[in-house]
Amino acid sequence: MKSLTDSVQVLPGVGPKRVQALAELGISTIEDLITYYPFRYEDLAAKEPQNVVDQQKVTFQGVVATQPTVARFGRQKVRVNFRLLIGNESVMVTFFNQPWIKNQINADEEIAVYGKWDANRRSLTGIKIIDEEANLQPVYPANKHIRQATIQQLATDAINQYQEQIQDVIPEELITKYRLLHRLAMVQALHFPADDQKTRDARRTAMFEEFLTFQMGLQLVKSRERIENGTAIKYQIQLVREFIQQLPFELTDAQKRVTNEILANLKSPTHMNRLLQGDVGSGKTVVAAIAMYATLTAGMQATLMAPTEILAEQHANNLSRFFEKLDVKIALLVGGIRKKIRDEMLAEIKNGEIDIVVGTHAIIQEDVQFKNLGLGIIDEQHRFGVHQRQLLREKGAAPDILAMTATPIPRTLAITTYGDMDVSIIDQAPAGRKPIITKWVKRGEWEKVLAFMTKEFANGRQAFIVTPLIEESEAMDLQNAMELYQELCEFFGEKYPIAILHGKMDGAQKDQIMADFKEGKYMGLVSTTVIEVGVDVPNATLMVIQDADRFGLAQLHQLRGRVGRGQYQAYCILVADPKNEVGKQRMQIMVDTNDGFEISEADLKMRGQGDLFGKQQSGVPEFKVGDPVVDLGALQTAQIDAAKIVSQPAWDQDPRYQNLRLYLENKIQINKSLD
Ligand code: ADP
Ligand code: MG
Repeated sequence: MKSLTDSVQVLPGVGPKRVQALAELGISTIEDLITYYPFRYEDLAAKEPQNVVDQQKVTFQGVVATQPTVARFGRQKVRVNFRLLIGNESVMVTFFNQPWIKNQINADEEIAVYGKWDANRRSLTGIKIIDEEANLQPVYPANKHIRQATIQQLATDAINQYQEQIQDVIPEELITKYRLLHRLAMVQALHFPADDQKTRDARRTAMFEEFLTFQMGLQLVKSRERIENGTAIKYQIQLVREFIQQLPFELTDAQKRVTNEILANLKSPTHMNRLLQGDVGSGKTVVAAIAMYATLTAGMQATLMAPTEILAEQHANNLSRFFEKLDVKIALLVGGIRKKIRDEMLAEIKNGEIDIVVGTHAIIQEDVQFKNLGLGIIDEQHRFGVHQRQLLREKGAAPDILAMTATPIPRTLAITTYGDMDVSIIDQAPAGRKPIITKWVKRGEWEKVLAFMTKEFANGRQAFIVTPLIEESEAMDLQNAMELYQELCEFFGEKYPIAILHGKMDGAQKDQIMADFKEGKYMGLVSTTVIEVGVDVPNATLMVIQDADRFGLAQLHQLRGRVGRGQYQAYCILVADPKNEVGKQRMQIMVDTNDGFEISEADLKMRGQGDLFGKQQSGVPEFKVGDPVVDLGALQTAQIDAAKIVSQPAWDQDPRYQNLRLYLENKIQINKSLD
């Protein structure tokens, strides 16, 4: 039987290579494909030349006034020329290297041509001939293995073949109430846009579907919380105290307070579902370590899930240090480990030999079973979905859950996105930290940056130099980083050795370089943003961020938090030539404040103002269509509707909510089998 959970392989022309290319875009099922929405539309509606500005892409509709001519030029280059009469203006149209166009064009016929307008020469460089129906052309996020047109073709095939399976997820009553589209009409309007109004309604529908299913997920967690009992973790307070006393530093008051909140939760038989907020460097990890240790003293296991391998490794290393003198066995469970080793590890997790499992979402895979998981910790909570949190909970009888985030979230938003959780806040930095001094310079002032770096090196201090990672083109990013690396190597020579760290290196290589940098074998470390959540290097005092305007504010703040962890004065230099006012303001905020809370508020406020970057790090979950800040109203509406549905007795037996329930179940299923 056909189902939207079918693999894209069922579509014509999708072999192993395409499966791989699609997977890189996050598409593996038919459902993924039909909800892979265009991120913008090209306007193909015909316009008059006098209303079009120079170099704009535009469609002209008119009558072919001259027989097309084909001319060859250069080596193997072909040009097709003809005149198009639009009203009473005659425009020259030129197609390069598409000789077949000639056969599609006949004198005296009316046609529509899409191309780029040169206002001075009154000529159009043709891109394609379009049929009159299409006014809006969808543009998809693509990668180098798969073309726009292919994605559109596959989406079309999927929608046509699965029409019957594309059933409403949003209950009928809400579709009526908010004048939304039915699901089939919605995906059709998004992938084959016909008119503006319909596309807008479709977008509104897609957004509501996403918000509603998200809020349903939260409500389900919440309602399970009410019926299920948690486990009382009977930790040995004396051992926990001793552990805290042997730490190499005194806890801050804020750390003590949140530790007490968490310990009280662990002890009580009600279930813990707590969010721990604290700025970068505020010391969340040690609080997590205390909570884990307490769990172990009760004879139970603990786990910590991080969004990336490098962060998981970092946590594993830190915890090993905290538990150095104790008999605690920690395992690192990530995606790429060998089957034999993984099997052994899984056996030891199951029989309880391993006390703490640190890893990526590899932890929530189906075959990972704990002996008795008492506590599950999630780092960088917003990078995970609510379903993943739910799956982590299912790894034990009723483990307590502690989610950590470095990004303070404004209250209104916190209620709608983490409404089901209690919150603890570390609002104090460890004593003796000097605020980081931040400067913003233009690219043209690079020499000053080099001079400052030289000064820090001469004082024996080290520097991070970060180049941006722009997902669209990994190869380009790497090239930029390599060029900068070479430039610095030449500039500093043997006196101050420089290293490079990038995403294409394997884990062992990265570890080695980080370890060497930490030991002082290198003075400077050039890297793509992979070190964003990297290792502590107390001797590093300088963070230089190239093209800083390409990062989100929250991310800049995270990066800056990599320095200033030792006793020396630390600096952050932002190198950027922002193109607009908002960009300039963003740089200025970084210069003006070190307060993560202020920064994240500013970040959120500036969203939807052409700020395309940094969504990931802004502390709220990501959505495909809606923006939880800009579309907060819709998110709140969805929250109320979800709560209403879940509050009805036996709602999950109600045929009105059948598809919604199935949709949520599928989503959980998919997360379970994620590699
Ligand atoms: P976060 O995870 O909140 O970014 P970490 O837990 O990584 O912060 O702590 C940052 C650094 O500060 C670590 O090197 C940690 O050992 C240290 N640290 C944590 N708490 C204290 C404290 N109370 N006093 C001094 N140093 C601390
Ligand atoms: Mg941390």
